[in-house]
Amino acid sequence: MVITKIPANKRSLPADAYTHVVCLPEVKKAMLAASGWPAPFSPPSPPVYEIKSAGRKYSNGLGAFAVADIKPGDLIMQERALLITSRHVALPKGDKGRLREIFLEQCWAEMGHFHRKTMQALHNCYGSDAEPLRGIVDTNALPADTLPGPTDIGGIYSAVFNHLARINHSCSPNVRYRWDIETFSGQVHAFQPIKAGEQLFISYCDLEYPRGLRQEELRKLYRFDCACPSCVLPRYQGRLSDWRRLLIIEQAFQDLSKTDADLRAWATNPRLPDPMLVDAAEIWYGWMMQERVLNSVLLPTVLERLCKAYCALEDEGNARKYARAAAAYEKALEGSDSGWGIVAASPEKTSWWGLRVRARRQQAPSI
Ligand SMILES: [Zn+2]
Repeated sequence: MVITKIPANKRSLPADAYTHVVCLPEVKKAMLAASGWPAPFSPPSPPVYEIKSAGRKYSNGLGAFAVADIKPGDLIMQERALLITSRHVALPKGDKGRLREIFLEQCWAEMGHFHRKTMQALHNCYGSDAEPLRGIVDTNALPADTLPGPTDIGGIYSAVFNHLARINHSCSPNVRYRWDIETFSGQVHAFQPIKAGEQLFISYCDLEYPRGLRQEELRKLYRFDCACPSCVLPRYQGRLSDWRRLLIIEQAFQDLSKTDADLRAWATNPRLPDPMLVDAAEIWYGWMMQERVLNSVLLPTVLERLCKAYCALEDEGNARKYARAAAAYEKALEGSDSGWGIVAASPEKTSWWGLRVRARRQQAPSI
């Protein structure tokens, strides 16, 4: 393992634009060789969030709060990490935890005043049960899925941020974190309309799990008892919520695995009932939003299906609604709207427009 500072060889950047990276030598070589990388970025200005005390429910710790109304898909935060470290790259034999701490200590020795002070201020849920730096990293790290270099030995990397680390957890989150390799930064987008003053929440655990498993994971990894709206539901509603989450992941994949050819077959066959595709997809979408199981495969699939089906029915209002939602979620998932903004502006220009309406006309008996 080696330690490096990215962006390299740029002396004019402010301290918070640099990330210390603990990585394999091959990854360091690839990062230093990538010309023009990382790309600069501009977070929203003025900021649309503030970091302040989240109150007693969060042990008087900090949280991130919206200071303006925010629309779905809007970028809220973008930040370079303080530190990126590999979590699961194979280390030489020995005490892996101790080895990680040794690398972290070396990294600490190379950090400037800003990075040290900011890292030290972050929460450490492990207290004296872990080495201090490891405790801070494991409490606050978010995934940094990809780094330049050979993918087969890339390992899994975690990023510790200054402000992003202050976003608290909810099993019903309202924002989504993503790692953006182009700019070598973490981004947070809104997933739903957020009002000024509301706290921002991401999820620290797998939202497809039922309540008991989620709480077990959060207790084990982050040492707190989740009291989010999903976790404090009365018993019966809690069980319904678990059941919906399970069904989404077990059944929705099957229901939504139908290809465009199937959708086209429905659109062009008036004998098949309208609700056949639309109602099922509406139910899945409603449940995904309700439970915040915003799976990166299922969610775009269900939105695409709804938009195409409503285009086939010439239902402009609903076609626009789902295209706008798809644009927002693609931005949150992928960083760009993947062309859905154009569809939302003019759904009648898509090849799906009126397919089912024309098929009905052709089938109607002439008088
Ligand atoms: Zn919860």
